[in-house]
Amino acid sequence: MQIKKLPDEFLEALPILKQIKQNNFEAYFVGGSVRDTILKLPIHDVDIATSAYPQEIKTIFNKTVDTGIEHGTVMILDHGNGYEVTTFRTESGYQDYRRPDQVKFVRSLIEDLQRRDFTINALAMDETGTVVDKFNGLNDLDNHLIRAVGDANERFNEDALRMMRAVRFASQLDFEISLETKDGIYHNAYLLEKIAIERIHVEFVKMMLGQAAAKGLKLIIDTKMIDYLPGLSDHSSQLELLSKLNIQLKNEVQVWGLIFKVLNFNYSEINHILKKWKTSNQIIDDVKLTVEILNQIIENQVNNAGLFNVGKTNLINAIEIAKVMELNFDADELIHQYDQLPIKTKKELQITGKDLMEQDIVKPGPKLGKILMELENLVIDEKLENNREALITAAKNMKDWN
Ligand code: ATP
Ligand code: MG
Repeated sequence: MQIKKLPDEFLEALPILKQIKQNNFEAYFVGGSVRDTILKLPIHDVDIATSAYPQEIKTIFNKTVDTGIEHGTVMILDHGNGYEVTTFRTESGYQDYRRPDQVKFVRSLIEDLQRRDFTINALAMDETGTVVDKFNGLNDLDNHLIRAVGDANERFNEDALRMMRAVRFASQLDFEISLETKDGIYHNAYLLEKIAIERIHVEFVKMMLGQAAAKGLKLIIDTKMIDYLPGLSDHSSQLELLSKLNIQLKNEVQVWGLIFKVLNFNYSEINHILKKWKTSNQIIDDVKLTVEILNQIIENQVNNAGLFNVGKTNLINAIEIAKVMELNFDADELIHQYDQLPIKTKKELQITGKDLMEQDIVKPGPKLGKILMELENLVIDEKLENNREALITAAKNMKDWN
């Protein structure tokens, strides 16, 4: 196969390939960018593989950065662009079911392609657009199949993360996983226990954000990988119901919000499980706020205070989840109600603690905070106008609180 019209990203990188070749080494575009070009999808980053060793690349190009030189990767800086160039290599060892103990640089493209995970990711393309396809990756692309390069069982035993990657690609591309490869996952699912949760996390979230997330989730359940995912392992039947919905999500907060709503977990369970997944505190807070407003949407109890508290971003997250759950509600009305809030943040309140003290209404202390909070609530509930005069008058009436 020859790709007639190379996307701009490749054209820009062509001088790099040519320069390597002028020095009598081989160089190819490899991996995801080749796959996505054939699928006519936008490409993210262009990876280059070469027969030149890292030190040789560094003598050919003036400006390089050692981004991962021990694995053979050098970044070439070219007119403001950075290109990762990786020496052909084979891997062996894999005693921890994840990283190879040994990386050996080789001069053969085929050996390099052989260590790659799936046939559709083991394609290379030269500077003329000619595709090198040693493992029938083109055929699998045509048939929408994820298939391990070589023996699936062996490949997942080497690196168990590949099983999550298989499901992630199935979701992102809306592909099936070949029978033998799926079987390989089923038999090696337990090896996920050996993989750092951070790595599983990345693949799981990418899977849930893919166009065929419901399919991905079903695959995770069917292959029993679900049994090794923190907090989800005992909930296959509810997650199976979730996998029957049309899951279309836009960010990680929506992913967790949907899952925890469907599983009906409380805030402390949410906290506990997301900590196990090593999720950032920011995301955990956002998930809780999102679930909170989602509950209010479900119970038809959304009010100004709830909207103010959740903020627009998480309101939109909740709306997206509610759509997936096929809830009957008026999303536009909710957004409108939010946009009409008298204030969106505390800062917008037309009075400060300093004002209250200067006016001799209250001295520094807990009462000051209490009054400010009450003023804020009254404004949010549209019971008090957000202007200085009205706020001071109202505050004066609270003067005798204790
Ligand atoms: P994406 O669009 O998500 O970047 P990608 O195919 O480029 O998809 P990367 O994780 O960027 O995926 O990896 C680049 C290439 O490196 C893959 O296409 C594959 O050939 C190879 N690769 C990555 N991870 C593994 C792995 N765990 N085992 C074997 N090969 C891998
Ligand atoms: Mg990539």
